[in-house]
Amino acid sequence: MSEKNNYIQGETGPWEVVIGLEVHAQVTSKAKLFSGASTAFGGDPNTQVSFIDAGFPGMLPVINDFCIEQAIKTGFGLNAQINKTSIFDRKNYFYADLPQGYQISQHLYPIVGRGYLEIELEDGTVKRINITRLHLEQDAGKSIHDQHPSKTYIDLNRSGIALMEIVSEPDIRSVEEAQAYIKKLRGLLRYLGTCDGNMEQGSLRADVNVSLRRPGEDYGTRAEIKNVNSVRFMGQAITYEIQRQMEILENGGQVDQETRLFDASKGITRSMRNKEDAHDYRYFPDPDLPPLVLSDEEIERIRAMLPELPDAKKARFIRDYQLSAYDAGVLSSELETVSYFETALTYLKEANEKSIKQLANWIIGELFAALNRDSLLIEASKVSPQSLAELINFIYEGTISGRLAKDIFAEMWETGEYPDKIINTKGLIQVSDEGTIATVIEKILSENQDKVTEYQSGKDKLFGFFVGQVMKMMQGKGNPAIINKILLEKLKP
Ligand code: ADP
Ligand code: MG
Repeated sequence: MSEKNNYIQGETGPWEVVIGLEVHAQVTSKAKLFSGASTAFGGDPNTQVSFIDAGFPGMLPVINDFCIEQAIKTGFGLNAQINKTSIFDRKNYFYADLPQGYQISQHLYPIVGRGYLEIELEDGTVKRINITRLHLEQDAGKSIHDQHPSKTYIDLNRSGIALMEIVSEPDIRSVEEAQAYIKKLRGLLRYLGTCDGNMEQGSLRADVNVSLRRPGEDYGTRAEIKNVNSVRFMGQAITYEIQRQMEILENGGQVDQETRLFDASKGITRSMRNKEDAHDYRYFPDPDLPPLVLSDEEIERIRAMLPELPDAKKARFIRDYQLSAYDAGVLSSELETVSYFETALTYLKEANEKSIKQLANWIIGELFAALNRDSLLIEASKVSPQSLAELINFIYEGTISGRLAKDIFAEMWETGEYPDKIINTKGLIQVSDEGTIATVIEKILSENQDKVTEYQSGKDKLFGFFVGQVMKMMQGKGNPAIINKILLEKLKP
């Protein structure tokens, strides 16, 4: 656990960035929070709407127990307090896509209280971000402005879908931390099966609160950027916002507390409305819904259903496999990555510290790079876990050199072939036979007598030249350790 500063140097001195995120995560559930209507994505407009979701008078909401269970699971994942009593309130406002005239939410008594999430940063440090709360609320419908020149259409399919709002403390201090947080949270939710984390479809979106302050001073006034729906946009929006606020503050101005929108096409944020202290939502407990009271047995039953969570896995990877905190964090934070890594492990001939470290490096390095390049998810990898593990086995046994392994990997990626096939058809097996290597070395040395003399009179740098020549003659297949050893012997004056 560490606290490092990320101060940004302005013209008038250093600034500290302060960020808090309010994440809306759509609960994975077939039915909505208070109605039986379907939550499936992409249905024709207004085909998944019950009378409750359409705000018909006199309809009674009925709580969906499964959504409650999902919220509690998520609470455990966030190391948080589960509140045995919580209350659903009406948050009153008028909007065309909100037919009830209010959103049912949880105001003063959320179902989940304080918790935390640990994020891994690239320099290997781990930082704890505190969570203020998680509450359940209904989603609103959607206004469609681009189907008719003068009319707006309303689609209520989303109306009433269960959302978890997960609010962080203002503990985040940089773009990197904000992105690590949303990625860690997304991974956790998908692990738990409580939200599919699909940011493009809007299942996960964040309101990003950003302010600046002088180091050591009180928090400054924040701006809130609404509905940021990708990790990359989050980075761009925060970067822009930092510059904007710094310019205002350095010129002696004040930041307005306001809601802003990120315009992805221009990479800027724009003011949307002035905020919220001005708003009066007139929260009051929904008279149709009694307080939600959970028994200890209920809470325990749900706790018992939890899978091994990312942080526990991470700790186990560090303990059992001696992986670095960063590597263990990366390998454990997404379900599909874990499954790839753990499947590959079962195919290692000799699973020990060295081979497992190698496997981790290849997944995080070569495999992730290839996935990125082709915009593929790991579950669609063209190199299977078994196939990668077999490549590691060949490296580990010294059958192939690390350098050749990269070429073989590229070929595996292209063709989907297993490494043994590629190695055999291309004759890529590493040559470790000392006699063979010695013969090549003698030839190289006799062809370069002048350089041998220079080396022996002190020009050490030439050693690399000899290694290179030997490797070249052996078409990259010579075992580097043995080449080095024999070269040293033969170059002795
Ligand atoms: P509201 O309900 O009006 O949006 P909250 O006080 O609940 O306001 O805070 C919402 C979010 O804003 C939280 O994630 C919190 O961490 C963050 N936040 C609060 N103050 C600041 C600040 N000065 N700078 C950045 N973020 C902040
Ligand atoms: Mg807010």
